[in-house]
Amino acid sequence: MERIYIAVAGPVNSGKSTLVNALCGQEVSLVSPVAGTTTDPVRKAAELPGIGPCIIIDTPGLEDTSPLGLERMRRTMAALDEADVIVEMSAGATGPLQTPRVTYTPGEPLDSLLKRIKDALPKEEERYLTGNLVKPGDKVVLVMPQDSEAPKGRIILPQVQVIRELLDRGCIPVCCTLENLQKAVETATSLVITDSQVFREVNSAIPSTLPLTSFSVLLAGAKGDIKTYVEGAAAIDRLRDGDRVLIAEACTHVPDTEDIGRVKIPALLRKRAQVKVDVAAGNDFPEDLSVYSLIIHCGACVAGRQLVRSRIKKALRAGVPITNYGIAIAALQGILQRIEIP
Ligand code: SF4
Repeated sequence: MERIYIAVAGPVNSGKSTLVNALCGQEVSLVSPVAGTTTDPVRKAAELPGIGPCIIIDTPGLEDTSPLGLERMRRTMAALDEADVIVEMSAGATGPLQTPRVTYTPGEPLDSLLKRIKDALPKEEERYLTGNLVKPGDKVVLVMPQDSEAPKGRIILPQVQVIRELLDRGCIPVCCTLENLQKAVETATSLVITDSQVFREVNSAIPSTLPLTSFSVLLAGAKGDIKTYVEGAAAIDRLRDGDRVLIAEACTHVPDTEDIGRVKIPALLRKRAQVKVDVAAGNDFPEDLSVYSLIIHCGACVAGRQLVRSRIKKALRAGVPITNYGIAIAALQGILQRIEIP
């Protein structure tokens, strides 16, 4: 289930941190009568009655116009961009106009506020990651390389989500690494879902009639805008020496020597043109996108739909094509036409 992002916004010392602590049922943010105690957005995962899994974001007030205050404002605006709903401490708090908002009345019981937050949330149909690509009884082979990037002893979130969804949909998921792929597809298989890093290898190892897609493409369909991403990938063929490409990651993590965004995709791009690659991790999505010829976004496995969609809008507003890792890798390997789009 997708986490709901709830941002609490309002002037300095309006009780935002007190409300966040009450919602989370624990002291997440320091509460103090001193103005400006919250200096950066603070995010906390919580399970809210009637709403489910959420990320609650405590944002600082925006009155400070010092250089530090302006940086704080930039971070707060980025946090508000992520939100599915904004809880305002007083009407008129900042944030994207299209984001639903509720105004908190001091003293309002929490269950009443929670109900109003729930009512304000955009009503979206629950979307399957695997869309219309599978039906009950289908055997689906999942190619999951366990290379140095794979966390020791764990399976990464997109793979866990797809396995769970296939089980819920009555399918038969079969997990393998590249080495056992041939064996795995020996018996009737409906679909192969691979880590996009081994797209080319998987494509050449399976019959060309067997439908193929990737975890990253499934995430792109669920969180982003797959049509825009496919259109954006066409910009790869137009890249020239000296062009700038932005790799946008929705979270921060310590990069690995085989990092897909920082190592593998730049290497594939440079087989085509000597481009300059910038990386923006977490909330550091640049304000000025106009310098870029292409943006390639990660699968955003730990981010909400709202964040990814707001970035797509910003890119389109700046006239910069945007695609995502899975679609870009398929395009760079010349198999974009071959893959299944959910
Ligand atoms: S949010 Fe993006 S960068 Fe972070 S782990 Fe998920 S896909 Fe990778």
